[in-house]
Amino acid sequence: MLDRLTAQPADALLALIKLYAADPAADKIDLGVGVYRTADGATPVFRAIKAAERKLVEMQDSKAYLGPEGDMGFVRALAPRVFAGTDVLGRVDGLQTPGGTGAVRLAADLLKAAGTKRMFLGVPSWPNHAQILKAVGLPVETFTHADIATQTIDFEATRAALASAGEGDAFLLHGCCHNPTGLDYSEAQWDEIAETLAARQIFPVIDIAYHGLGQGWDADNYGLRAVLAKVPQALVAYSCDKNFGLYRDRVGAIYIVAKDADGLPAIVSNAAAFARANWSMPPDHGAAAVRLILEDEALTADWLAEVDEMRARMREVRDALAGYGMAGSVDLKPLQHQNGLFSTLPLNADQIKALRDDHAIYMAGSGRINIAGLTMHNLPKFVAALAAVTA
Ligand code: PLP
Repeated sequence: MLDRLTAQPADALLALIKLYAADPAADKIDLGVGVYRTADGATPVFRAIKAAERKLVEMQDSKAYLGPEGDMGFVRALAPRVFAGTDVLGRVDGLQTPGGTGAVRLAADLLKAAGTKRMFLGVPSWPNHAQILKAVGLPVETFTHADIATQTIDFEATRAALASAGEGDAFLLHGCCHNPTGLDYSEAQWDEIAETLAARQIFPVIDIAYHGLGQGWDADNYGLRAVLAKVPQALVAYSCDKNFGLYRDRVGAIYIVAKDADGLPAIVSNAAAFARANWSMPPDHGAAAVRLILEDEALTADWLAEVDEMRARMREVRDALAGYGMAGSVDLKPLQHQNGLFSTLPLNADQIKALRDDHAIYMAGSGRINIAGLTMHNLPKFVAALAAVTA
């Protein structure tokens, strides 16, 4: 039976991690894997998480099963931050999920079960979006999110996609810090998207994996607020893996915004059934630590301070990159106003290979770079290498 399976391509980014680890160069630079790094190249456990974990070890007196919805204290403590500035909290409920990935999976499962005709997806996108939609069997319509050569959003393509979608279709939107381009919609563009979604009865799914890491908590959720002010229903997939540094602990939530509170239990029961079939219940530890932080004013303040440091460091790197202007044929100025961990540079496969082979600089084959892999120390080398391979 198993001989019928054909080999699948290795995950390119995971392969890159191995190549990077094996490179003896002292000044090698890793811009591949999507985790935050400090100026020293570390991806530390947050101070507030350490403190919450210590509390958890002391306080937790059972690890008995919780259920497919996970830690509802976590889900409810997080909701006011996710939906700040909206008036939907009275008609929102959610489930804890294994990371934002689990939340996107449940969103896709729910929409498939609800008979969604097509899911519209701007590309390039986080590669797992397409993989999850394919696994669930939701037909996907792609459109161009951004033009990498000019480093601009292709809003005409978004407009055309919205114009061709209608009732029964869904639209997947990155709430902020677009992965992999860093190119987020402007406020005016979000307003237009929100109006059109409502007017054409297109169902929105908002994926938020980098809240707080772009322009700030409030600005990063402009799109969510704009959309929820107009549409009656939506699904929100939220990850705490980046903004609490919990990556491998797999912490996320799916939130269901229903037309009214009475409609919630039926929808939640479907989500719980899918969770049960997919993973039975989410891992507890990381979400419990997040809950302890959100329930404690001092820990919350310390956590917020650490996210502020991360955001400020990434903005500093973006400002410094932009300060170089051109590096060979690559214009670095647009990177200044992009958001989050990633930008995608207009590089071809040969240039990306030359950066790796000749300069020990590792990045995804798409040209995506992790901004947090750059520091004030390695920036000059990176820019010089970029100039050399694109000259
Ligand atoms: N959505 C987007 C756009 C992402 O970039 C990511 C992570 O890279 C996720 C969702 C899911 O993150 P996780 O499952 O690690 O919480």
